[in-house]
Amino acid sequence: MKTDVVIVGAGPGGCVLGYLLARSGVNTVLLERHNRLDKEFRGYFFQPLVLKFLDQMGLLNDILQIEHEKIEAFHFVDHGKNLFSVRFDDLSHPYNYGLIMSQPLLLQFLIEQALEYDNFTYLSGAKATELVQEGSTTAGVKVIQKKEEETIQSRLVVGADGRYSTIRKLSGIQLEKEQHKFDFIWFDMPVLKGKKYPLQIQIEDEGMLIYIPKGPDVVQVGWVIKKGTYSEIKNKGIEDFQKQLITVDPELEEDLPQHLLDFKQCAVLDIQVATANQWVQDGLMLIGDAAHIASPFSGQGNSLAIQDAVVAHDVITKALTQVQSPLSMNLLKQYEEIMRPAVSQIQQIQRIQAELIGIKNPLLLHLRRAMVPLLFRTPLFNKMRNKLALGTKPLDIATFHFKN
Ligand SMILES: Cc1cc2nc3c(=O)[nH]c(=O)nc-3n(C[C@H](O)[C@H](O)[C@H](O)COP(=O)(O)OP(=O)(O)OC[C@H]3O[C@@H](n4cnc5c(N)ncnc54)[C@H](O)[C@@H]3O)c2cc1C
Repeated sequence: MKTDVVIVGAGPGGCVLGYLLARSGVNTVLLERHNRLDKEFRGYFFQPLVLKFLDQMGLLNDILQIEHEKIEAFHFVDHGKNLFSVRFDDLSHPYNYGLIMSQPLLLQFLIEQALEYDNFTYLSGAKATELVQEGSTTAGVKVIQKKEEETIQSRLVVGADGRYSTIRKLSGIQLEKEQHKFDFIWFDMPVLKGKKYPLQIQIEDEGMLIYIPKGPDVVQVGWVIKKGTYSEIKNKGIEDFQKQLITVDPELEEDLPQHLLDFKQCAVLDIQVATANQWVQDGLMLIGDAAHIASPFSGQGNSLAIQDAVVAHDVITKALTQVQSPLSMNLLKQYEEIMRPAVSQIQQIQRIQAELIGIKNPLLLHLRRAMVPLLFRTPLFNKMRNKLALGTKPLDIATFHFKN
């Protein structure tokens, strides 16, 4: 098989880039190792900036036909009191809410839209295993699909294959990791009739609890633990775990013991913050988590992966018209020059958040409770909120590349 661009990985980064290139007339193949999109862990929260992009793609109204929830604010509760709320509802209309939506359904929709274009191919159950090299230039990928190996030659391979990216490893690009103190335990819980779990982080002496509503009937519950302590928690048993969560939120007493019966219902995710030391090489580009991993505390990963796709679309489409051969690092580097500082600013904000969230010293805890609500009303915090919700710099989809 021969194409212009092969994208490895149908997460938010890969699917948005695939759609944008398809619509711009670029011969594109999108690969996904799973047959079904719900086989991977996928975050359901999307920042307001993503709404703007979906609107510029002309897809927002149709996407909002999928079951979703509009989120007005993200609350930080500290020892029973609301420390501050990151409000979305005072941003400019119409992108003045965060979106909670089933990510597999959203990705499926984007793939279906891209399939409307003859120049787009989607291969599911197709795992990229090797890079094809011509000298030091990447010229395609080897793929295993239904136990058959196939080579796809291309002018560009985009690694959109997530935090454990195979493409990054095969290219020899190194990941620079930051130390992080936490892991997360996650599980889904059905919501009892009449109950509502807002999007929030709740911090008490006993622990830190996170709620991410996933529609009216299910809430995703997160519990933050010290890195590497999951087996200790498991050894103490499920009832002990239930008790810890109920101590932080007594309202859970009714729902939790009925629904969380076994650690098999839980997933543990190690929190990583990391950046690849190179995002482009001759014939190769990394986007999304393959290039950089943000901490999940302020729901940035989907937005950053989609921002990468938006910038990459413009850079790739322009580069393809400039040469007939594989795209050189020189032609691709503008993407890294735009997105690296944007990601680095978000990671810096998240470092401050992690420091604030991780405070244990009683005096500092007292200070946090006194100072943060005051600081939160200052223009500095407002600026931070805008960067998290709307991105660090104005970005728009290069719709002038669209063929229709
Ligand atoms: C606990 C937790 C909660 C989170 N919640 C949120 C949230 O609510 N909102 C948010 O914005 N972010 C959230 N994030 C971060 C977010 O999930 C990621 O940043 C985001 O999914 C990155 O998108 P991506 O397109 O780069 O890669 P991914 O979404 O990781 O997608 C990569 C895709 O590549 C495929 N793949 C991998 N290897 C291969 C291969 N060799 N061949 C073919 N396909 C391959 C995978 O199957 C996958 O489908 C969370 C992260 C964690 C850890």
